[in-house]
Amino acid sequence: MKTISLIACVVGGLVLSSSGRSPTLRVGFGACDITPALDKKVYIAGFGKNRVAKGVHDPLMARVIVLADGQRKIALASVDLVGLFLPVVERIRQRLPGFAYVLVSSTHNHEGPDTLGLWGPNAFVSGVDPAYLKQVEDGVVKAIQQADRQLAPAAARLGRVPVPELLNDSREPYVKHDDLVALQLDDPKGKTIGLVVQWNCHPEDLGAKNTEISADYVWATVAHLHEQHACPVVYLTGTVGGLMSSLRLELKDGQGNPLKEGTFARTEAYGRLVGKAADKAIAAAKPVTLTPFAVERRDLFLPIDNQLYLLAWKLGVLDRQSYRWTGDWRRAEPLGPGDAKADLRKCIKTEIGWLRLGDLDVAAIPGEIYPELVLGKVQDPPDAGADFPKAAVEPSIYGQLTGKHRMIVGLANDEIGYIIPKRQWDEKPPYCYGRMRRQYGEENSLGPETAPLLCEAFRVLTRSDR
Ligand SMILES: [Zn+2]
Repeated sequence: MKTISLIACVVGGLVLSSSGRSPTLRVGFGACDITPALDKKVYIAGFGKNRVAKGVHDPLMARVIVLADGQRKIALASVDLVGLFLPVVERIRQRLPGFAYVLVSSTHNHEGPDTLGLWGPNAFVSGVDPAYLKQVEDGVVKAIQQADRQLAPAAARLGRVPVPELLNDSREPYVKHDDLVALQLDDPKGKTIGLVVQWNCHPEDLGAKNTEISADYVWATVAHLHEQHACPVVYLTGTVGGLMSSLRLELKDGQGNPLKEGTFARTEAYGRLVGKAADKAIAAAKPVTLTPFAVERRDLFLPIDNQLYLLAWKLGVLDRQSYRWTGDWRRAEPLGPGDAKADLRKCIKTEIGWLRLGDLDVAAIPGEIYPELVLGKVQDPPDAGADFPKAAVEPSIYGQLTGKHRMIVGLANDEIGYIIPKRQWDEKPPYCYGRMRRQYGEENSLGPETAPLLCEAFRVLTRSDR
């Protein structure tokens, strides 16, 4: 029997049409420009603080696909932003009655405005403009409503292609999630009405010095696919932890000359390579059944053990409700203003999701998960230098998915930072792999308990109807 606690919400159930065949799929696409106006200071997110935007190179977009199976509607939205916290997504959902599930994922763009708070003028001041967050909310709602109005019968094809050469893994152990997934939606006459492309890389190719607002390489990937297929494109970011990047990949121009890092020419070249990989996946795509739908989602609580995050919370730089950690990811108590300075273990509420769209299983993970955790490749045996070498290997995300096809959406409905396998946590000396210095990652994670708790919650979620 399924039990539903007061703070958890699980919706689900499979519905087959009376004929026993899969119900007809309908899809619609929508988009909205969410580029910030530069009539006030816009702080660019992703690298150092106080990076003020001086211009706009290409527009930031919210891109949406709405899918319907005759019983329920699902919206998948992607925004060209560094991340959105769950409360923003909850506000968007409140404005969209009639949907079984609304997923809002960020591409994790490092060349757009600060939407989380960490990249303001200094450590004490948030870089978020609340008016801009409202603009994003409005834009996503508008794009979803537009996609909803376009709903029309469609057939789906799915293709995937491994492209390890398009990823640089900048943290040991070197494990890449190098599968690019493409979904092609055609109308009954065979005309392509839209594409969904999912890839696993940080949109940060323009680097830390750029001061022009851009969607980073995603801009060029989408432009390439528009040119090739003349239809709307939704680009979704998947597994980006551990650390999936295009930085330090050697890229060359048409004449074979190396492209310089931090230039739009290089970023465009990378984005077009991702677009060409998507072309290959599309060319090899096979028909796939995406109905009926089943949706499972639930809240979970994760302790905040990162001292820098706790400080940012105290200063109001990170503006988000915190809770008292009870030792159980299923429940927690909200903290009031009087509790802010209290010496107790705090936690946040976040959310995980599991969609079954016919033969396609989709994991919705609220941050930057390490590929090891998705693919079941956590280091075993652990490195002796790790901080918790005896920690159990977490149940993998893809290990829980039973569908014929699998896909992951990262930064889904939230951005909680890195989700690091506990036995690869390496903050204290001696460091793993004989290194003299620690690797980058832990400073942007809630803490070492994040992965074990989240992976366990996902395991429970995917068993909630069995
Ligand atoms: Zn990141």
